[in-house]
Amino acid sequence: MEHPTMSFMGNYGGELVAHELAHQWFGNKITCSSWTELWLNEGFASYITALTYDFNVVHDSIYFQNILGFWKRDLFQYPNESVFRADTTDIRGLFGPNTYLKGAYLLHMLRWKVGDDAFFRGLKNYAEDTTYAYGFVDTDDLKGHLERSSRMDLTEFFKDWYYGKGFPDYTTLWTKEADELSITIQQQTSDPSVYFFDIPIPYQIVGPSIDTTIILEPRFPGQTFRIPFTASIDSIIFDPDQWILAKNSFITSIDEIENQNSFKLYPNPSSDFLNIDTDLIDFEVRIYDIKGSLIDSRANSKRIDIQELKPSIYWLEIRAKNMQERIPFVKE
Ligand SMILES: [Zn+2]
Repeated sequence: MEHPTMSFMGNYGGELVAHELAHQWFGNKITCSSWTELWLNEGFASYITALTYDFNVVHDSIYFQNILGFWKRDLFQYPNESVFRADTTDIRGLFGPNTYLKGAYLLHMLRWKVGDDAFFRGLKNYAEDTTYAYGFVDTDDLKGHLERSSRMDLTEFFKDWYYGKGFPDYTTLWTKEADELSITIQQQTSDPSVYFFDIPIPYQIVGPSIDTTIILEPRFPGQTFRIPFTASIDSIIFDPDQWILAKNSFITSIDEIENQNSFKLYPNPSSDFLNIDTDLIDFEVRIYDIKGSLIDSRANSKRIDIQELKPSIYWLEIRAKNMQERIPFVKE
């Protein structure tokens, strides 16, 4: 715990020392102006503790990914909470995971969004700004410094990730045809306070002759990216280094699922019609949204009009005697 001129610590463990040392700057030299902004103390101290792992200071960097994994596991239990603490009379909520760990993850995502150079330069400028030294700051002061160092507008980012509640849950479908890779990214949010979380997403692409990472920044749910890509692909991995506080419910190749089924769909993705390639004569077609709700059904139709559907990922199911199979498809 912090006291004027010194930290009191119950032990000298590396994590505790790092946390309290971080408070000499973030907490003591510059202090949050209100309890609503407590993350400016505790999110910082928590993230700096984790950085001692990332940068091999006292701690071993091999554990950094484990720490991010633990944070995610804890934070997924709070789908309707924000880093911003609106209720400052709720002491348990104030000194809880959404201030410490979600605050730390907010810094980690800011680092990802603006890049290491702008992130650490911006934080150094913030910590050295004499207008706040031995005085008070709020989140906008930090935002201003990071915007100046990165030359980015972070308003939407803070609206989503700081004031907004919960986290996104991603579904990714990809398919590879000839020289083109198409990737569709659907996002659902855990709380209605955020319609869409803005953040770039790294995808690692692995194949017999490649191992590369691309970064996609979707602007709306269900956006499809078409990327010129010649090498063959075995798998695509969502955010392999855990930059984003997000669930990744589903990522798969359309072709892989199609190969497990007796019918085919084409073209997929499509913006207007889907053709069903099947030998069946008597069957029912059902369309489900990504949450599994039935939105349409019809009999014996091999050409499905999808022009009215919103861009997203859906499931098309075929039911016949002794048969029930489904393939995901993308409406562009
Ligand atoms: Zn602390």
